[in-house]
Amino acid sequence: MLGDRDVLVIYDERVLAHRPQAEEPFLPGRMNSRVRGILDGLGLEAKWSYPEHPGRVIAVNEMLHAQPVPGVRFAAGDKATMEQLQRVHTTSYIESLHELAGKQAWLDVDTTAISAGSMEAAEVAAGSVIHAVDAVFERRAESAFVLCRPPGHHANAVRARGFCLFNNIAVGAAHAQAHWDADRVLIIDWDAHHGNGTQDIFAADPSVMFFDTHRAAPFYPGTGHISEVGEGLGEGTTVNVPLPGEAGDRAMIRAFEDILVPAAEWFRPDLIMVSAGMDAHITELCLTMTYAGYSTLTGIIQRLADEYCDGRLVMALEGGYNPETLARCTRTTLEVMAGGPPVEPVEPGMAEVSEIAEFHNSAFSDAD
Ligand SMILES: [Zn+2]
Repeated sequence: MLGDRDVLVIYDERVLAHRPQAEEPFLPGRMNSRVRGILDGLGLEAKWSYPEHPGRVIAVNEMLHAQPVPGVRFAAGDKATMEQLQRVHTTSYIESLHELAGKQAWLDVDTTAISAGSMEAAEVAAGSVIHAVDAVFERRAESAFVLCRPPGHHANAVRARGFCLFNNIAVGAAHAQAHWDADRVLIIDWDAHHGNGTQDIFAADPSVMFFDTHRAAPFYPGTGHISEVGEGLGEGTTVNVPLPGEAGDRAMIRAFEDILVPAAEWFRPDLIMVSAGMDAHITELCLTMTYAGYSTLTGIIQRLADEYCDGRLVMALEGGYNPETLARCTRTTLEVMAGGPPVEPVEPGMAEVSEIAEFHNSAFSDAD
């Protein structure tokens, strides 16, 4: 029943300090003309603004307070330490980001910029996932959802990409293994974009299984082919499910039931983590999921967590750029984590057609 389960939402306002602007100067200098050319080439009438902005998580937090989910509690996060970040990022990469603290810059043509407060926000985002992992292993909560930004799944060991600076979910998974002796961690990435960074980090690591549903290449970031199955000792623990842009609830649910469920049964994880991007929702124009789809997927994941991990489940926000639908997708997900029954998707419009048919059909009936 809704409220039966204790869910911790980690929300720390320090993540709001990351607020890049489209007109930032670029680093290194030669990228200036390149990025400006790309932005100009978009031919936008309106001024282009950085889509990954603080209003995203503010909208989610506001909805969760205006319409509370029974069983959900809130906590602030922590900053990840150098040692915790070094488990997945190179020292030189972390130091190069630290040197940019207090500055504004574009780091990469790949839509990645920083503002003065970005370094602290990124450390808090990664540290908050660690906080969530600690909470579920210490049984302070059955599961946890981290309302973090910047997102993380495009960042690899050495590079910031696609709005991502540190790979939050990877930092959390590495912490679960180093600090809690979790032998096997399953990372599920249901963001509409392929989690290339997470895949890179764990490609050769058989102790982390990475399962990713996403819109197929050439959609950004262009990776995630089915042939990418992991490397070396990690071959077989990377599972990619590239989908056409029209794919929605049914395809996603089938991918989870027919591919994820047997993979999890084979892998037997000690912890399940989710890169919970909400941009597969139809309003984001990447895939065509509905709220009920998120509800059902969460139900499947919760079932796996109960079966293999004593319920231990940690979700961390990735993408989702329409604040209103992002908030509702997150709330829908939390309802199921908190013990609510998953809602089955129905073909959109079917309920309405039934009602309208009843209304019109009386006009064509011979009964009177
Ligand atoms: Zn995404």
